[in-house]
Amino acid sequence: MDNHECTLDKIISLCKRRGFVYQSSEIYGGQAGAWDYGPLGVEFKRNIQNAWWKYMTQMHDDVVGLDGAIFTHHTTWEASGHVGHFSDPMVDCTECNARHRADKLIEDWCRSNDFNPEKPVDTMSHEEMKAFIVDHINCPVCGSKNRKYTDVREFNLMFKTYQGAVANDSSLIYLRPETCQTIFLDFKNIVQSNRMKVPFGVAQYGKAFRNELVFKNFIFRTCEFEQMEMEYFCKPGTEDETFDYWRKERWAFYLKYGIPEKQLKWHHHDKLAHYAKDAYDITYNFPIGFEEIEGIHSRTDWDLSQHMKFSKKDMQYMDQEDGNKKYIPYVVETSAGLNRNFLMFLCEAYEEQNVGTDGKDDYRTVLHLDPRLAPITVAVLPLMKKDGLAEKAKEIQNMLKEDFVTDFDVSGSVGKRYRRQDEVGTPFCVTIDYETIQEKLEDGSNNLNYGTVTLRFRDSMEQVRVPLYDLCARIHKEIAAYKPYVKN
Ligand code: ATP
Repeated sequence: MDNHECTLDKIISLCKRRGFVYQSSEIYGGQAGAWDYGPLGVEFKRNIQNAWWKYMTQMHDDVVGLDGAIFTHHTTWEASGHVGHFSDPMVDCTECNARHRADKLIEDWCRSNDFNPEKPVDTMSHEEMKAFIVDHINCPVCGSKNRKYTDVREFNLMFKTYQGAVANDSSLIYLRPETCQTIFLDFKNIVQSNRMKVPFGVAQYGKAFRNELVFKNFIFRTCEFEQMEMEYFCKPGTEDETFDYWRKERWAFYLKYGIPEKQLKWHHHDKLAHYAKDAYDITYNFPIGFEEIEGIHSRTDWDLSQHMKFSKKDMQYMDQEDGNKKYIPYVVETSAGLNRNFLMFLCEAYEEQNVGTDGKDDYRTVLHLDPRLAPITVAVLPLMKKDGLAEKAKEIQNMLKEDFVTDFDVSGSVGKRYRRQDEVGTPFCVTIDYETIQEKLEDGSNNLNYGTVTLRFRDSMEQVRVPLYDLCARIHKEIAAYKPYVKN
């Protein structure tokens, strides 16, 4: 492998060094499977979430939003099937007691050994998984070649707790393992309060919690994560075209924000949940291989029917455009992981680019992030601290702050400062030099409409001189016209 390629270790190191992501509780030795998003990470994550929200709601007249509670009545999860069936297959090594997720153990082994199993892992029975593991896989924790494992059994992924002072069945609470159930619980409220007509969708993002057995690959799989989900309610019989429509839309979202088509792949679910009509994942080519970032599911009328059965409340929709016919709408779900999107956009943007001249190598680390996603949009850099340059630069930064997330940096050479900004994906740098402050108004004031600055572009490293009065508008124009960077 070319040692300038993107690896997960390089991403983890950049994230820590530059304040994107830290190990949670690091001073106590770390909390497994938990990560803290630092000053740049929180901006970046929010930008991805906002991009998704805008794409799903603002750009789709028939999709509205919801911010449901994390805590819901515990019957929600009995009705949804999570109490009975939301589990992963696990297997223990009887020599070191390490617990593994059986399906992932097989998938990882097949990938590293370039091995094609006879049938897809998600269609294997417990017995078939155990047989495969015993035949092929040494315990990855203790390395024992004896391959002594327990039977494969199911492990429920929901975190349980109790609300209030008394722990009993009625105070039982589950931390939600997916965000979408409140959309079903509030289906009737939304139809009535906002006069929604089927077909329509409800989008929601927020934290979800799963007691995952395996956390590895950084923020890819964690116990606490964020989902961005949308449930689209449609008339029975129209679910196939609705499903195709949302598959295309979700694919287009990733292209819009700079993921090249060759880096994405559909994965069709061979084994469907009993209620599901169809399901696909969008997978991205991470440095660890193609892995899921989003699931798109055709879920029939299962969720609403289940809540109708358990709550004994009528969840039917009365279709005024079809002679007041009553039915339970069918549902197409799009369910994306925000943290996996975060990791994907970082991996895709990362480049160690040789910008050396005269045959000499000179590598810069750069994140070619879409400016709408980049944590900092504009960095303001006075050439010198002295001679009023820093003061002028502060004035300019204050002007830009209204429109953009900005950074201010005076330390080190301008070249080094550009490199620091490249490494965190800042698309624009504004440099204030002596020319900027040369022209003063007759009354001696340093009006912001006077002078010019250097605007430097991250991807091309090109620099242009821009009059101050036009700076904000010019940056807006550049953002609107941005074309995803194509790596060599
Ligand atoms: P996987 O097969 O990777 O466990 P899943 O099929 O269980 O994922 P869904 O239930 O379809 O995932 O959840 C939708 C999205 O939520 C996933 O595509 C993923 O992006 C995200 N997601 C699910 N589980 C986790 C997790 N433990 N950590 C981070 N993101 C997750």
